[in-house]
Amino acid sequence: MKILVVNCGSSSLKFQLIDAVSEEIIAKGLCERIGINGSQMVYTPKGGEKKKTQAPMPSHVEAIQLVLDALTDAKTGVISSLSEIGAVGHRIVHGGEKFARATIITNEVMKAIEECSDLAPLHNPANLIGITACQKLMPKTPMVAVFDTAFHQTMPEEAYLYAIPYSYYEKYKIRRYGFHGTSHSYVSKKAAEVLGREYTTMKIIVCHLGNGASVSAVENGKSIDTSMGLTPLEGLIMGTRSGDLDPSIMEFIAHKEGKSVDEIMNVLNKESGVLGLSGGFSSDFRDLEDAYEAGQTASVRAMTAFAYRVVKYIGAYAAAMNGVDAICFTAGLGENSPLIRKLIGERLGYLGITIDAEQNNKRGEDTVISTKDSKVKVLVIPTNEELAIARETHCLIKIS
Ligand code: ADP
Repeated sequence: MKILVVNCGSSSLKFQLIDAVSEEIIAKGLCERIGINGSQMVYTPKGGEKKKTQAPMPSHVEAIQLVLDALTDAKTGVISSLSEIGAVGHRIVHGGEKFARATIITNEVMKAIEECSDLAPLHNPANLIGITACQKLMPKTPMVAVFDTAFHQTMPEEAYLYAIPYSYYEKYKIRRYGFHGTSHSYVSKKAAEVLGREYTTMKIIVCHLGNGASVSAVENGKSIDTSMGLTPLEGLIMGTRSGDLDPSIMEFIAHKEGKSVDEIMNVLNKESGVLGLSGGFSSDFRDLEDAYEAGQTASVRAMTAFAYRVVKYIGAYAAAMNGVDAICFTAGLGENSPLIRKLIGERLGYLGITIDAEQNNKRGEDTVISTKDSKVKVLVIPTNEELAIARETHCLIKIS
């Protein structure tokens, strides 16, 4: 069975067609600038060349139509008819407390996702538009929703509650949800596999370090804590997001700079993180790394603070689980930056960790980067959220 994995943003749509049995990517691509001028689709069939198509995409319906046309195209297509697509797996950002696992999409599920839009106003409406567009063009194909928040629904109350009036949790469901769940789940499972250990008896810390970044504590196969909160703003220092800070800072900036709440939120989401710390130099870790190596003060400051925050979370989660067996690095930065892993790893000696410099320089594969005698194993595990979504989708379709 072939599974189409769809990840819809407000003006973009990423897709992969995956063979559920061989787990091969048959085709993948991206539609950009949906609803604005200059829309284009980038499409790459397996073993073929990347092709760019400029075409008007006033809405996600036209974008999905272009994707389906490309997949079935006589020349560059990879399937002969849409009936070969057994199911569509949709990445949904926020499932609130309603969804602790992936689910087949029904009208009730659509309504429930809509009800969670309050918690992710930029993402859930776009995700819903993507589902509706796919349903319109593939009315008979089953659709599955896979939630970024679902894996973290196992967190205990003491980890997910904020110490604010409890009535806010009761009335508005203000609590920590956590994100990147598909990645934390995939990577922690894979780490157990690589180490030849039983997943359900391990204590694993996953550091998902990309432009957005989060850490999770996975005990016996369940997420028991994670650094992102009600929204993806909390926790680690990120590309442009501040992560943890004293909430009073908002009031302070408001008074000093005469900014509104919206303007301050924009600063915390778009102008902070390593971009802010480096004095506006860059939010891209490749730029920061080059400048760090050259000794540029602003980048040294940003990278050092970034690594320090990760180190603090690792310490907190080792304490929360009363121990740790393995620490995993994943996502754009976690997978590709020996420097950041070194900066973090050299502060973990108290856990009996030593990093093998040679192993740490490998890229693109599951690798144990700690030395043989390291008490806690440290691994690089490339994440694969699309494959995880395809697996969950396939699993649900098989049993339904
Ligand atoms: P997101 O999905 O949150 O946009 P990614 O997981 O794609 O993020 O990670 C993007 C980040 O990874 C960027 O900051 C980028 O600079 C960093 N990155 C990618 N490749 C490298 C590399 N070779 N060295 C250092 N950083 C890298």
